[in-house]
Amino acid sequence: MKIVPDMIKLKSHKTVYQYASSFIKNEFLRQCFSFHPLLVGGNPFDTTSIYALIHYLEREWGIHYAIGGTGEVVKGLVRFFEELGGKIHYSTEVKEITVKDRRISGVKLADNTFIPADSVVSNADVAFTYRNLINEQHRSKYTNRKIEKMRYSMSLFVIYFGTKKRYNTGELAHHNIILGPRYKELLNDIFKRKIIAEDFSLYLHMPTVTDSTIAPDGCEGFYVLSPVPHLASGTDWKTEAKPYRDKIMQFLQETYLPGLEENIIAEHYIDPLHFQDTLNSYLGSAFSVEPIFTQSAWFRPHNQSEDFENLYFTGAGTHPGAGLPGVLSSAKIVEKLIN
Ligand SMILES: Cc1cc2nc3c(=O)[nH]c(=O)nc-3n(C[C@H](O)[C@H](O)[C@H](O)COP(=O)(O)OP(=O)(O)OC[C@H]3O[C@@H](n4cnc5c(N)ncnc54)[C@H](O)[C@@H]3O)c2cc1C
Repeated sequence: MKIVPDMIKLKSHKTVYQYASSFIKNEFLRQCFSFHPLLVGGNPFDTTSIYALIHYLEREWGIHYAIGGTGEVVKGLVRFFEELGGKIHYSTEVKEITVKDRRISGVKLADNTFIPADSVVSNADVAFTYRNLINEQHRSKYTNRKIEKMRYSMSLFVIYFGTKKRYNTGELAHHNIILGPRYKELLNDIFKRKIIAEDFSLYLHMPTVTDSTIAPDGCEGFYVLSPVPHLASGTDWKTEAKPYRDKIMQFLQETYLPGLEENIIAEHYIDPLHFQDTLNSYLGSAFSVEPIFTQSAWFRPHNQSEDFENLYFTGAGTHPGAGLPGVLSSAKIVEKLIN
């Protein structure tokens, strides 16, 4: 309630697109200044203008990149965790978070080993954690019905690839946003109609512009991502993935990366099934709970479970939200709550 006056002053009832449009007339510039909610899984036409804070964060503190890529951030966190005495069990799936007398009592692993715990912090997707790891009879707020009724961010189709030739001609930057012919309608297809559109908007990442450790000499490293609907679309990605990959690569070959196909020496792509089946994200959403007003800030699933006092959440689906700054903040919040 304390922040309501500020929210009124900041016009939080407007969407990010409406907010950007109140300063800018040109439609192309409106797009350039409003796509940012997509970086945390939101539709610029639905997301409250509070999320224009992303523009502010970028301007105030800049955009950061870890030399060696995101894997180096992960390695740093692992080192830190182990120095503090933490122990990591790799490839060990938690099958159940167990409950005794209205409190979490520990976790049960896929091989049925039980690990008792005073507190449990789940970094898996919140919706997945509640729905799949905690027996519904123990849940009062996050029932299966509630989880099914919540709105989830879009998914992504991502192609990671390396070429035996360099493309750093100056036209492409480290970060490239390639807007397609449609904006609002394409976002509608992704978020509302949930169909795979004929056209796409892409983010093309070319870290070798900044970081020579990413690829061997004379080679280039990339990933390209296309926002796509989450799995409520009913798309059969087992058959759709390859044609979709081909369409994106053909587009890049015809526009920014001539001769692409013959120069590719490494490639791996992921689709919404990867987010669902490998990362356990509900509906294969890439950024978990959609950041609309009624699912943001205090309205987002809390860092301390509403159902269990000794169950905590970090990660994209909890408060404050998706993206590395958000998920790391959620970890700091949980640390304070536990202590
Ligand atoms: C292609 C792409 C590009 C991105 N680029 C950026 C960027 O430039 N900047 C930025 O800030 N953010 C970026 N993001 C977003 C950011 O990566 C995510 O928001 C963030 O990684 C989410 O962290 P998380 O801890 O919530 O989930 P995850 O990183 O998915 O971690 C959850 C982990 O829990 C594990 N898990 C799930 N269930 C279980 C279980 N039952 N037992 C054991 N383990 C389990 C999963 O395997 C997974 O490893 C990007 C995302 C994508 C997909």
